[in-house]
Amino acid sequence: VNKWSIKWQKLCELETKAKLINDKNKLIPYNQDFGHMLKGNVAAVYLPQSFEQLSQVVRFANHNCLPITIRANGLSQSGQSIASSGGLLIDMSNFYRVYTPENETIAAEPNATWNNVITQSLENMQLPHVYPYNLNLSVAGVISAGGVGASAFSCGTIASHIQSLDVMIADGSIKTVVKSHELFDAVISGQGQFGIITKVNLSLRACKRRIRTFFLRYDSHEVWLNDLFSLDSNWDYIEAFCSPCIQGARLTSQGRKPFADWFFCTHISMEFDVDAPSKDTLKALNFSKLVRVEEDTIESYVGRHDSRFQMMKNTGQWELFHPWYECFVPKKILDEKLPEILDSITLAFGSVYHVVPIALNNAKYFMMPNSDEIAAFMILSPGIHKILQTACLESHAYLNDIFLRAGGKRYLSGYLGTTISENYWVKHYGEHFVDRHKVKEKYDPRGIFCSLLHTDI
Ligand SMILES: Cc1cc2nc3c(=O)[nH]c(=O)nc-3n(C[C@H](O)[C@H](O)[C@H](O)COP(=O)(O)OP(=O)(O)OC[C@H]3O[C@@H](n4cnc5c(N)ncnc54)[C@H](O)[C@@H]3O)c2cc1C
Repeated sequence: VNKWSIKWQKLCELETKAKLINDKNKLIPYNQDFGHMLKGNVAAVYLPQSFEQLSQVVRFANHNCLPITIRANGLSQSGQSIASSGGLLIDMSNFYRVYTPENETIAAEPNATWNNVITQSLENMQLPHVYPYNLNLSVAGVISAGGVGASAFSCGTIASHIQSLDVMIADGSIKTVVKSHELFDAVISGQGQFGIITKVNLSLRACKRRIRTFFLRYDSHEVWLNDLFSLDSNWDYIEAFCSPCIQGARLTSQGRKPFADWFFCTHISMEFDVDAPSKDTLKALNFSKLVRVEEDTIESYVGRHDSRFQMMKNTGQWELFHPWYECFVPKKILDEKLPEILDSITLAFGSVYHVVPIALNNAKYFMMPNSDEIAAFMILSPGIHKILQTACLESHAYLNDIFLRAGGKRYLSGYLGTTISENYWVKHYGEHFVDRHKVKEKYDPRGIFCSLLHTDI
């Protein structure tokens, strides 16, 4: 693979009429992502206005073996959307159109936000089966990771509810592919390595106008986990997390360190039109305290996390380091070790450590542990000061050691580390590693789609 030297950039502009951005100041934001843990060295950025224009640049890159990185909003954290040295970054910002829903489907361009999609679908009182907590993410960026949200406990991942995709492959042509097509399977959770998603068709479901949420608190992790995994699809959404009650600083071999006693919290929500679910619906649950009952409109509920993300921006946390840690783990390991894990990892991550059940998904390369009961363990810190980075990364290593050994699989959006060896991917994809490699060779034989994380497949 070559690099996008000035000579190649000029030739590309001449042959395709594209205008590339290579002003050093304009490149700065593209050399980082939400993680702020890694830095890229992009040669130029291309902001296409049409898929025809984009196709010409992709064809030029392919013909001349020049690397391309696809970027939506840059909210991943491990260099998935940062170009490796000398690469060309394609900024997909101009493709955000959402089409009118038809029956139980809605189509959108790749950089449409979930907010755009849901605003449109709610006009017919419909919602995607699963949508992310953060509605400002792009549709294609989330699908390229896999996608989890508060209904994933019963509906699986967002990726499980995609009907079809239009994908521009390395030769510049666009293919429409459906589930079980090898290209569809590879692009889902594919982190931009197989082609450029140009259109997404998502399944919708009917929803109700109002929603009631019960906020429950537990003192025992075992009771909490058992209740969490007993919740069925009569409920529409679950959010759950461990919350430290700080007990001061205790003596350790490295001096005094803060420590905590832990609460376990569940928010369960049910949509309704007329009759709100009563407290009787909680009869089978064994919580210690019903902390709050809240009623909301569905329009307000879907954006319930917006103020939190806005506050991260207002307070400067957005610009700090985000070594987010998400791992899909068998419930069993949490039954056995959750208290020990919470006691061992640094409290520098913050005050919320999410654990939610996830239903089995049917996306081929979205890797999950081989278990009937799976939870997502997620540390999504608002922002980490540099001085606390080492403690956080030590906790990453500790968690990886426990979880990956137990068959856990990292969510490929968070911070995975500075250097990821091929052996990591061999283990991550297991028996699917070779198949996936073959799909890459077929649709991107010159390996032009790459990034700082995936310098090659
Ligand atoms: C504040 C915040 C909240 C989040 N909440 C959730 C959540 O609720 N649920 C969840 O599942 N995840 C969540 N995430 C993680 C997020 O879904 C992933 O990091 C996602 O990949 C980021 O999307 P993006 O639009 O910023 O994409 P980028 O970071 O720009 O890209 C991510 C990956 O997608 C690829 N890509 C982007 N566009 C295309 C395209 N058109 N074709 C092919 N590949 C493409 C890129 O190459 C890259 O590999 C959250 C992240 C943040 C920072």
